[in-house]
Amino acid sequence: MRIVLLGPPGAGKGTQAKMLAEKLNVPHISTGEMLRDAVAAQSDLGKRVKEIMDRGELVPDDVMVEVVKERLSQPDAKDGFILDGFPRTVAQAEALEKMLAQMKRPLDAVVELDVGEDEIIRRLSGRWVCSSCGANFHTVTRPPIEAGKCDYCGSPLIQRDDDKPEAISRRLQVYRAQTQPLIDYYRERRLLRTVNGRQGVEKTLEAISEVLGIDARS
Ligand code: AMP
Repeated sequence: MRIVLLGPPGAGKGTQAKMLAEKLNVPHISTGEMLRDAVAAQSDLGKRVKEIMDRGELVPDDVMVEVVKERLSQPDAKDGFILDGFPRTVAQAEALEKMLAQMKRPLDAVVELDVGEDEIIRRLSGRWVCSSCGANFHTVTRPPIEAGKCDYCGSPLIQRDDDKPEAISRRLQVYRAQTQPLIDYYRERRLLRTVNGRQGVEKTLEAISEVLGIDARS
């Protein structure tokens, strides 16, 4: 299946995309994660995008389209993928539509995770991420077993630079202005499936599975 997960920062796209990808046995393609890896590796791409990301702004469309085109051309994406964090603008959605049409592999669905802004701010400001494996934790809803340490690999937990208060409000503004129009874009193409993202992680996964017509337990 070829699926896009859409929703504001903190809606749970990363968590859901990861679980869905495992269940469907397709790659989870997170553009945010790819960019953070590039920043950590101090590659040319990483150097170019670091400041933009820290401010909570969007990386230019042409850069993102190239990154995704390259990723989708890899063999593991041949039988499907879960895109998380891309597209984020109408220009990116148009570019994606074009590249998938060329590959004769159109999208199956776009799942929108619907979560109110109060909840988003609460989630993002308590979010901690493993510096090594990328697992997410939350001071209130998902605290690690040992404070400051990843449950899975024991590495230190860090707060993302763009989860700091100024960047959060900028990211929400950017989402409203640039990404929200994609909801209508995909509704018009009859690909949009909206899911309540305010439920817990498992319930949300069940709801996503249901709109996609896949078995939640498999
Ligand atoms: P995310 O992890 O999806 O919240 O992405 C973190 C940051 O990476 C965003 O705030 C942007 O600065 C950048 N980014 C990720 N995906 C995109 C995209 N599709 N277009 C532009 N910028 C992106």
